Amino acid sequence: MNANYGVSEALSIIGSECEARDGFHFMGRGSLIAELHHSESDKYIPLEKGAIGELTLTNISKKAQPLIRYRTADIMEIVDTDTCLCGRRSFRFDIKGRSDDMIVVGGISVFPSAVEMIFSEFLDQLTGEYQIVLATPPPHENILVQVEYRSDLKQEKQNQLKSTLEKVCRSKLGFRPDIELLQQGRLPRGDGKTRRVIMSY
Ligand SMILES: [Zn+2]
Repeated sequence: MNANYGVSEALSIIGSECEARDGFHFMGRGSLIAELHHSESDKYIPLEKGAIGELTLTNISKKAQPLIRYRTADIMEIVDTDTCLCGRRSFRFDIKGRSDDMIVVGGISVFPSAVEMIFSEFLDQLTGEYQIVLATPPPHENILVQVEYRSDLKQEKQNQLKSTLEKVCRSKLGFRPDIELLQQGRLPRGDGKTRRVIMSY
């Protein structure tokens, strides 16, 4: 339909969305072996519904510079392995983010983009600026998220906002981060590529 996924080092476009719009179909069969690498256990895990890991690719038909278990740094989730409504039988997947952005909190993988998505629903109260602060090296049992509230937010609404954000994070991310509200303007502004994850250890 209107979405494609490609890894140019391996074989250009290898994922395409069909009319059922239920993830990307893997289009590399016959040319590539796709595997999922699980970073926590350092093992390759089966490609089954719900599995999440780093996509690694091996060329099986290329004669010049074939890649072997090439780590793409893209975190893939298997959407389904059954025959699709469109009739195609290749597995379907989504790309969750880049492995270097991923934070594992209490065994749950989270991307800054998922946190950002939650805050974007509260832009009547938040500025949209936030930072994830990692106080210790992994494994993380919890994380601190600093988020700016708008200067026109009344003081009595701040406590309510903090607990609302923590609750929404718990239901959408699967864990409850510590939310710290900061006044508008307290977080550094970047040139479009603001650092969202800060290691304070
Ligand atoms: Zn399909």
